[in-house]
Amino acid sequence: MALLYSAPLRYSPPLPFPKIHSPPLTHSLFEDPSSSAACNPLSSSNISSANCKHRRRCVSKLVSASGARLAASELPSSAPAPANLRILIAGGGIGGLVLALAAKRKGFDVLVFERDISAIRGEGQYRGPIQIQSNALAALEAIDMDVAEEVMKAGCITGDRINGLVDGISGNWYVKFDTFTPAAERGLPVTRVISRMTLQQILARAVGDDIILNYSNVIDFVDNGDKVTVTLENGQQFEGDLLVGADGIWSKVRKILFGPKDASYSGYTCYTGNADFVPPDIETVGYRVFLGHKQYFVSSDVGAGKMQWYAFHNEPPSGTDVPNGKKERLLKIFEGWCDNVIDLLHATNEEAILRRDIYDRIPIMGWGKGRVTLLGDSVHAMQPNMGQGGCMAIEDCYQLAIELEKSWRHSVETGAPMDIMSALKRYESERRVRVAIIYGMARMAAIMASTYKPYLGVGLGPLSFLTKFRIPHPGRVGGRFFIKFAMPLMLNWVVGGNSSNLSGRALSCRLTDKANDQLKRWFEDDDAMERAMGGEWFLFPTSTENDNASKPIHLAKDVARPLIIGTRTADEQGVSVVINSPQVDEQHVRISCKDNVFFLTDLRSQDGTWITDNELRRYRVRPNFPVRIHPSHIIELGNNKTVMFRVKVLKTLPDTNTNGEQPILQAV
Ligand SMILES: Cc1cc2nc3c(=O)[nH]c(=O)nc-3n(C[C@H](O)[C@H](O)[C@H](O)COP(=O)(O)OP(=O)(O)OC[C@H]3O[C@@H](n4cnc5c(N)ncnc54)[C@H](O)[C@@H]3O)c2cc1C
Repeated sequence: MALLYSAPLRYSPPLPFPKIHSPPLTHSLFEDPSSSAACNPLSSSNISSANCKHRRRCVSKLVSASGARLAASELPSSAPAPANLRILIAGGGIGGLVLALAAKRKGFDVLVFERDISAIRGEGQYRGPIQIQSNALAALEAIDMDVAEEVMKAGCITGDRINGLVDGISGNWYVKFDTFTPAAERGLPVTRVISRMTLQQILARAVGDDIILNYSNVIDFVDNGDKVTVTLENGQQFEGDLLVGADGIWSKVRKILFGPKDASYSGYTCYTGNADFVPPDIETVGYRVFLGHKQYFVSSDVGAGKMQWYAFHNEPPSGTDVPNGKKERLLKIFEGWCDNVIDLLHATNEEAILRRDIYDRIPIMGWGKGRVTLLGDSVHAMQPNMGQGGCMAIEDCYQLAIELEKSWRHSVETGAPMDIMSALKRYESERRVRVAIIYGMARMAAIMASTYKPYLGVGLGPLSFLTKFRIPHPGRVGGRFFIKFAMPLMLNWVVGGNSSNLSGRALSCRLTDKANDQLKRWFEDDDAMERAMGGEWFLFPTSTENDNASKPIHLAKDVARPLIIGTRTADEQGVSVVINSPQVDEQHVRISCKDNVFFLTDLRSQDGTWITDNELRRYRVRPNFPVRIHPSHIIELGNNKTVMFRVKVLKTLPDTNTNGEQPILQAV
């Protein structure tokens, strides 16, 4: 007869884990509570009997398929005392902590060994924010609604805006991703970005100090068929019913299980940084991947006026930078790229930049042996291009806890001992295919970024002179069609593909997860996005040869206040800027605003007005004919390059630094 729970198992304080060998501590606290006495109501141990009571409470909540409640006394007499399952977890990263939480919520006993400090483990302090996508948030909700709520509150929603790929040089949209609709359609929370530190702290608090052993480096384990014994570097030993290696890409547990095997180098080194910087299109864009040839750049809003970025560059591993040389190197690598990239680099402090080489691990068929299994990066470390490595670890945790619960339930129903090994096998077979596909997608994304060529001639050695003609590369054009149609399907599956497996969460999108009512329009219309952009428009001088034009000029968004540039103050109503230069006429050019967009009119100037667009095409403006100008356009008065401006849109004019320099001005 199938038995169902009437309510999820509730947690009771865990028993202390049996520590087998502990040179410094030989306290009675470490008695083995797993012995049958531990669940014997006559046992003298209060903790044990408390736990035993808890288990009985759980059992008393079992209901039959027909809905009839089954009291503990009605269980078959041969039923064992419910398994007092003890789970040992190596690693207190995202995977280790979420698994500990899931196991705790199921009522299992759990202990996490973290070689560093779980909540603020070493590098975690600098690793900045992480994107937790709808699929992982939903899994977290199914594990613990309160914790998921806390994570979502602390995060910054990016899934309610436009995200996608742009050309790194022009900044033009290549493909936009809709991550909102698949989430909303399936009743999943919308993707957030959250500081890793905050995430770890929320998780560690929910798991509890008594469950996480910091400074506990797992160096060995032995699976003797009935139990697993873990040995720490300090000589302490702990015994449990199973061991989960959630110890990251360089996993010790994996190495002991399957022998040493090198991780695969992705071909890319990755610089990361964050900056106090708010782009003008913050209301419309969540994250953006800027594509280039053998290099790419990712920027994401992380809330609180900060942006996080990742700069990937194709080169051999183990490269180093000269002291204080990272920013300078990046500015060289990304020279000529669009303002979004350059401004962000300029706004970042050197000390906030970290560098690491990107590795992954080809997923293996078997994830474990006997009573030991792997989870997260230890078994399927992937490249960060899909932002799914941590999300997959969270999905793993949900599945592993569910499979263990199923086995426990089965043992209660049948009276047989709990079959841990089958639970672990089911867990890996449930997860293997999905993880392998997403791993493959992350690799594919890197390949796409390495082969992306904006123009014909890029990367062609002797034929690279072709680049100057700015002929769109056929691969870019063809690839766009493929991505445009394949990507939404793939994203749909990544974001929503696991949702039908989840139980324990309500199928509803939260009211706070609302998208702008223009979102649909922004997907189809780049111009609508530009019009929706906030911020102030400026003309930034790009030539140092003319002292009269060395300060940014603000463009008023007021149809009655056009800007007129010339060698004398204008008669007509508006704002006059006087620039003395032989190439500039008395009244040279007028710039006016209508409906949040700007138009430039050459006032029949003798030497003309020239515009270079963001694809670097330069043309002369027809006299007396208003033309639209866009951010990043270069405007030249005359044609000897002495009076030149760049159109820039800024949310706020950045502060001047201690040397009296303005980073954005420097960038221009
Ligand atoms: C640049 C970059 C950006 C990324 N962005 C995203 C993103 O936006 N979204 C996303 O979902 N994923 C992202 N990822 C991937 C994500 O960081 C990982 O997939 C995730 O951290 C894996 O979690 P984990 O718990 O398996 O491993 P880890 O986070 O690596 O944690 C492993 C833990 O085990 C501990 N440990 C190691 N060895 C031992 C030992 N012997 N004994 C005890 N403890 C040990 C470590 O100290 C660590 O705390 C990104 C990765 C990179 C490199």
